[in-house]
Amino acid sequence: MTALEEASRKLAEMIRKASRVLAFTGAGISTESGISDYRSQGGVWQRFQPVTLQDFLASEEKRREYWRQKKELYAQLELARPNEGHVALAELARMGKLFGVVTQNIDELHQMAGMGDAEVLELHGTNRKTVCLDCGAHTDWRETYRRLLEGEEILRCRKCGGLLKPATISFGQTLDPEVLRKAEAWASSCNLFLAVGSTLVVEPAASLPALARQRGARFALINLSETPFDDFADLVIRAQAGSVLAKTVEMLRHPMV
Ligand code: ZN
Repeated sequence: MTALEEASRKLAEMIRKASRVLAFTGAGISTESGISDYRSQGGVWQRFQPVTLQDFLASEEKRREYWRQKKELYAQLELARPNEGHVALAELARMGKLFGVVTQNIDELHQMAGMGDAEVLELHGTNRKTVCLDCGAHTDWRETYRRLLEGEEILRCRKCGGLLKPATISFGQTLDPEVLRKAEAWASSCNLFLAVGSTLVVEPAASLPALARQRGARFALINLSETPFDDFADLVIRAQAGSVLAKTVEMLRHPMV
């Protein structure tokens, strides 16, 4: 048995024994789909100056810079498809094992892999919708991207003229308290917390696993690099998530393999 198979076997065993699995996902699950990990070496923020919400609201120049960055990210988003990690999690949901995903990602790849909207909590919002900061109208990101490609530099609402922004939580913006409350409720009610592709450093990623553990849940994590939780987890798999998750689902489907 290879190391990958051994890790998948252990994870499959934990999932088999659990009745309520919650997945928590970060950038690491989407890198295999071609989405940049903002914080990694060579990541987007080493080239881009992050624009805070305050800057965005205050300065025409910052708004132009912000949309220049988004245009590049949209080009990645347009090509991104769910990878085997997203597909495996959606499959776990269909099998009745996984009841939800709390994600730091803003790419909607979980939903594209087949998870329902009600099964995914987006802590940082989504890049696939644009919101008017004045009237609150939502538009599809493809319309926004088309306008950028046509040369618009700062986008304004067609209805009210207000400033448009992707429906993401920007730097300097607080998380939606309703989403946060639900994430905490989910973490408190799972009996297996599965962290995938997140270093679990920023909040609330850093506190949700502890919340789950306090309520007696088991805790497994899959990540390429070390996390502050490696000593605290019941199972640590140091790998790219896709193949491990795919193998795990295969083992759950065919226990004798
Ligand atoms: Zn508007």
